[in-house]
Amino acid sequence: MTEYKTFKADDAIAFADGHSELFGEHSKLSAEEMSDGELNQVFRVENDKGTSVIVKQALPYARWAGESWPLTTDRARIEAEVLKLHRRFCPEHTVEVHYFDPEACAILMEDLKAYRILRTELNAGKKFNHLAAQMAKYLANTLFYTSDFVMSGENKKAEVARFLNPEMCLITEDLVFTDPYFNHERNNVEHSILDKAKNLWHDEALKAEVAMLKAGFLSKPQALLHGDLHSGSIFIDEQSCKVIDAEFGFFGPVGFDVGSLLGNLLLNYLASPGLHDAADCSEQQAYLLDQAEQLWLQFSETFSELMRRETEDPMLESPIYQQKFLQQVFSDATGYAGCELIRRTVGLAQVADIVTISDAGKRAECQLNVLKLGRELIMQRNDLSNISQLLNLVRYQQTD
Ligand code: ADP
Ligand code: MG
Repeated sequence: MTEYKTFKADDAIAFADGHSELFGEHSKLSAEEMSDGELNQVFRVENDKGTSVIVKQALPYARWAGESWPLTTDRARIEAEVLKLHRRFCPEHTVEVHYFDPEACAILMEDLKAYRILRTELNAGKKFNHLAAQMAKYLANTLFYTSDFVMSGENKKAEVARFLNPEMCLITEDLVFTDPYFNHERNNVEHSILDKAKNLWHDEALKAEVAMLKAGFLSKPQALLHGDLHSGSIFIDEQSCKVIDAEFGFFGPVGFDVGSLLGNLLLNYLASPGLHDAADCSEQQAYLLDQAEQLWLQFSETFSELMRRETEDPMLESPIYQQKFLQQVFSDATGYAGCELIRRTVGLAQVADIVTISDAGKRAECQLNVLKLGRELIMQRNDLSNISQLLNLVRYQQTD
């Protein structure tokens, strides 16, 4: 085991070399630090033949904020263990962890250098028809196989304890479910939308519904979530996509992961008028709505099939219960998608979909649409019975 120290490039090289068979002969290794890690440091270690691995190390603080924001390094264990479990249930779409060192809080993993980050690709107007089907498969398998449908009570509770992840959950609890609804100093509100953001602070009906969603996040350990499934946590190429960055993983409501991804597709949909010209925008929007629809349809079909075929608890075998369970997941996912829209517009962690819109007027218009749809999704989540109704809400509000 390695004593904890903040890795420099040479440490990353030694770590990779010591724990990987990939390099064979100790041919010339070099390490390059990736600049876009928000919480952690990430190195690519490569030999002179182009073979490479990724070394990701948790620092005792959040990288973007520095030492003023201390943060548990246990998040590296959570990330490694969630990815390993998810890979067991969906190997095709989960990055491979080669090795985890609990002392160094460092993970050695597969380098996805042939892939690109989904958010960057969507913002550039790229379309991948396999996205929804593959992510539906990832979500259905990872969430079903870590749920009460198949896990024994004893094992499930031990796993819930192993993945409590309180510090990382607190970040979500604050940044997603609390800050945007108060005048909190961590918020990040553009002046042009300040009035609308202020409305959130006094919208008691909305706050009550967000409180319900937050309570679900705090107290519904249904399955082992990824916990941060936005479009920056997905790598994609022409054939396949793979999920990374599971340090927010814990046992929570199934609808949270589904809703996070759905929310990110809808966010990109609403950002499209600011990112593309009119013709490209309408193509991109049609693509995104189709993917949102397929994501839900294929997720629910696979999850239903797994519930029918594989459920082990005799009470949970009830088809009526299973149908109600899935309807509740849909309603939760709709609400969590709404929360994602709002927090990405007025909260601390903003996304390139919006911030790269260079025309300030267009950017404000997009942000207002995002806030509006976020509110509608949260408020109407229990009245929408299926994905077509949800998508009609999205289309209708566009023409508003
Ligand atoms: P953080 O949790 O600190 O935000 P990420 O896991 O999102 O870190 O990784 C930061 C960046 O490092 C990614 O956006 C990507 O550019 C790169 N990266 C991370 N994991 C891999 C990987 N397995 N293969 C290739 N690049 C990766
Ligand atoms: Mg991360």
